[in-house]
This record gives sequence, C-alpha cells and structure tokens, in this order.
Amino acid sequence: MTFMNAPVEFPARVVESFGRRAIVLTADGERLAAELFGKRISIVCGDEVQVRMPRPVAAASGDAPRIVSVMPRRTLLQRTDSRGRTEPLASNLTLLAAVIAPEPVIDAFVVDRYLAAAAYSQIDAAVIVNKSDLASSAAFAALVEEYRAAGYPVVSVSALNREAMDELRALVRGQSMLLAGQSGVGKSTLTNALIPDSAQLTRTLSDSTGEGRHTTVSTALFHIPTGGELIDSPGVRDFAPALVSDAMVQQGWAEIAKLSPNCRFNNCLHMREPGCAVIAGVEAGAFSARRYESYKRLLNLMRDLAPDYERRR
Ligand code: GDP
Ligand code: ZN
Repeated sequence: MTFMNAPVEFPARVVESFGRRAIVLTADGERLAAELFGKRISIVCGDEVQVRMPRPVAAASGDAPRIVSVMPRRTLLQRTDSRGRTEPLASNLTLLAAVIAPEPVIDAFVVDRYLAAAAYSQIDAAVIVNKSDLASSAAFAALVEEYRAAGYPVVSVSALNREAMDELRALVRGQSMLLAGQSGVGKSTLTNALIPDSAQLTRTLSDSTGEGRHTTVSTALFHIPTGGELIDSPGVRDFAPALVSDAMVQQGWAEIAKLSPNCRFNNCLHMREPGCAVIAGVEAGAFSARRYESYKRLLNLMRDLAPDYERRR
C-alpha cells in the first residue's frame, strides 16, 4: 500500500443525519456528505464521529466519505413515539430551552414534559419567553412565575426585535442548545435571528432527495456567530420523554426534589401515600398544584406507554 492510497481519517461532527446519510462538519469548517460504514453504526445529530475518506481511485467512482466510528455521547436526548419505541433526537446537548409565548395558548403539560426530559438526560433546562413585545394575560404571567419558582432560568426575548435577543445570546454562549416548544411560539423566527444563514444551510439531506419532504425532516445543528450552537429538531413536536422508571419520573421536578426528603416513605411516589411532604407542600401552596398535576400525568403516561410496565418495576 503506498502512502497516496492510504485512507485518511479525521474527526468531524454530525450536523445533519437522515437514514444512513449525514452531513458532517470538519475541524476546518468544511461540510461533507458522508455515509455510515457497516450496519452496526448508528448516528444522531450532534455526534462526534471519525470519518474515513475514500481512496482516490474509489472517490473517482463516486464513493462517499464513510463514518467509521462514533465517540461516546456525553448526553443523548430521546423521545418516545406513540408505540412506546425510543427514538434518539440529538446528542451532546448541554441545554434544552423550552420556548413559550403569550400566543398561541400554551399547553403547560407539554412544556413540563420537555423540562423533565432534559433532567432525565442530564441536560440543563431553561425557559425562553418569546414575543415579549405582545401583551400577556394574567394566566400567562402566572405560568412564567411557576417556572421561575421551580428554579429554571427564564429569559424574555422578542424574535422580531433583534436587539431584544442579548440575554438569549448570553444564555447559549458555550452551550449546545435545543429549542423545544409547540408550533407557533417562534422557534423558527428565533433560529433565523440567531443564525442569519440557517435558511440556506438547513435540510440539505431531506431536500436533496425529495423523499423526506412530506414525511420526516431531519434534525440540524448550526453554529451561532455570537457563540454556542443550536439544534433544530422537528422531533420536538408532540413530545414524550424516553421511558423512565416510576421512581425516576419525579426527577423532572426540582420542587419535588426539595420536598420529598420529608416524605414518610423514602420510595414515596407522592400519589396517595400517607405522610407525603409533596402533597402537604401542594396543600400549603409551596408547590404549584398545576405542576404537581403535571407530574402525576407524566407518571401515568409513562405507565401507559411502557409496553412491559410490569417487568420494569
Ligand atoms: P414555530 O412554529 O415555533 O417555528 O414559530 P414561528 O417562528 O413560525 O412563528 C410563528 C409566528 O409568530 C410567526 O407569524 C412569527 O412571525 C411570529 N413571531 C415569532 N416571534 C415573534 C415575536 O417575538 N413577536 C411577535 N409579535 N411575533 C412573533
Ligand atoms: Zn411523597
């Protein structure tokens, strides 16, 4: 084997993945279309991978660069589909930002599910209040206060007014952030404000084939010129976290973690148990009754989604 024919390997980051194909970003900032090598590798947007270039003779015949290995993931955000199957959304995230706005009307249970999913994946969470240029109702202001009281960083922005984005730019600096939120809260507008050329860069893979246009759109990772990175994922709509055990569900609520050491039973699920400090906290007004209901709903949802719930216990 001569030196000229030796395969060249280098590390890269998966910025878009679709089936067995991916767009990777090299250390030099070059975007390359690559394919998975072998059946045993699976990748997700955000992965750090090792890429092997084809030999010149193979490249001439149209062989693509190959992803030959995946580095261990620091974090992995996953979702559960309606059939109870787990699906990875993005890896190596450090921050999940749940976006809410005075309009459309917010389904707070969905927001709580995003925040809980971040906790289960050991990813920090924050709440972004978008459309701060609009008047907000008392109910919306109360919701924002619930998240502040729960301990989440809350950042107010207006995606339509780029000056009102400084606090968000500071939040995401040094982070790998995913924007989660229901349709219409302004995720795309925020993405475009943070990354002016994201519209040109996005969806290279699903657009190039056409096959994805009416079905799945790929997740994409962008570098923010003012620092940090943003992951844009269509999988955040209609979101349920990956299944976790009954005992773990409560880890998605910082308020419960504060109160539960005083529960009579150390395996208390705060449903109906006697001597439950969490229920007492709700009754005393120290823990939002709505957030508590949301916890119970997610616990029940997890039990419904788990095909083999009895065996998980
Ligand atoms: P997405 O579904 O979460 O991606 O939401 P979009 O980014 O498509 O925004 C939904 C609508 O809200 C669009 O009509 C935007 O122009 C509007 N919008 C987004 N951000 C703001 C904002 O800060 N203020 C106001 N007033 N409208 C906004
Ligand atoms: Zn309890």
